[in-house]
Amino acid sequence: MRPIYLDYAATTPVDPEVAAVLAHYLTLDGVFANPASRSHLYGWQAEEAVETARGQVAALIGAEAREIVWTSGATEADNLAIKGVVAAYPERGRHIITSAIEHKAVLDSCRYLEGQGYRVTYLRPDAQGLIQPEQVAQALTDDTVLVSLMHVNNELGTVTDIEVVAGITRERGVLLHVDAAQSLGKLPLDMARMPVDLLSLSAHKTYGPKGVGALYVRRQPAVRLVPQIHGGGHERGMRSGTLPTHQIVAMGKACELAAVNLHQESARIGKLRERLWTGIASLEDVHLNGHPSQRVCGILNVAFGGVEGETLMLALNELAVSSGSACNSATVAPSYVVQSLGLDDRLALAAVRFSLGRFTTLEEVDAAVAVVRDTVSRLRG
Ligand SMILES: *Cc1c(COP(=O)(O)O)cnc(C)c1O
Repeated sequence: MRPIYLDYAATTPVDPEVAAVLAHYLTLDGVFANPASRSHLYGWQAEEAVETARGQVAALIGAEAREIVWTSGATEADNLAIKGVVAAYPERGRHIITSAIEHKAVLDSCRYLEGQGYRVTYLRPDAQGLIQPEQVAQALTDDTVLVSLMHVNNELGTVTDIEVVAGITRERGVLLHVDAAQSLGKLPLDMARMPVDLLSLSAHKTYGPKGVGALYVRRQPAVRLVPQIHGGGHERGMRSGTLPTHQIVAMGKACELAAVNLHQESARIGKLRERLWTGIASLEDVHLNGHPSQRVCGILNVAFGGVEGETLMLALNELAVSSGSACNSATVAPSYVVQSLGLDDRLALAAVRFSLGRFTTLEEVDAAVAVVRDTVSRLRG
């Protein structure tokens, strides 16, 4: 028996409908050509498929197709957005605002820029994992060029009110980048209404394949970017490299499915998460990490008092979940995200992220509750 998969925030399985589409764009009897081949039918068909997918991704976020730049995932999109925009606007300043609970793709890009002489403010979340828009307003200076904040935190599931943040940055003439890898297909995103300038997307958190993503780059008012990958001038010069037609078409299909299912699916998964939490919460000394209501449907992060983190993770081997810790070479360190909530180290080390998704069933949730209850009770002796 394989463990119950409760790690959808790390990656989702590809939806079978998406996988079927993907397979059609690989072989000789399908559409396999280089979309940049302008001299024959094969290339034209591939280009048409890529443009259809661009429209599908754009439609899910209320953008125009030409505002979508294909990348290898959200990591590359974050890198391109942050490094690309500060390089394009040197006259606007050398100060960046982000938060201490961003994904490493954002934090490490900011650290790199610190080495290049930029100054970075890392906003601290409150005890429930929220970054408040007023914190952004207070941190802005005349030298601020960019604010980069995630929409949904990948460990806690907490949601940042990016609409309000966007209102603040727009009014101050500062650019806003949002990492939406965990909200795409889960929460409504509407670039026509939210003045976000750059939005990072990934396919594999929303039932598409790994290795493809996109950066939304606003056209009105236009945002300039200095490319970070040089080559054939693909994607209007912003990101060179032969487009992976099969991956792109699959991301388009995944976004199309997400658009159809978004509200119903979020409601169903939200109920399952509630059931999981209710089942676990009646154990004593368990702590919900993150905000109880300002959160995405599928993520539940819980710290268990009175148990040792590493022992707990080993004992939970019937569940495929994510631990609140990161293993470096010698020591086990608590997750920097969970730690930022102010938990002591021992409790932070005993944090578990459960993440549910499209294929999670009621039976799996009930089985998971039983496993957690048994395991924690047993370890507490
Ligand atoms: C998964 C994730 C990323 C990285 O996306 P890739 O497509 O795997 O590079 C970035 N940011 C957040 C919030 C994520 O959850």
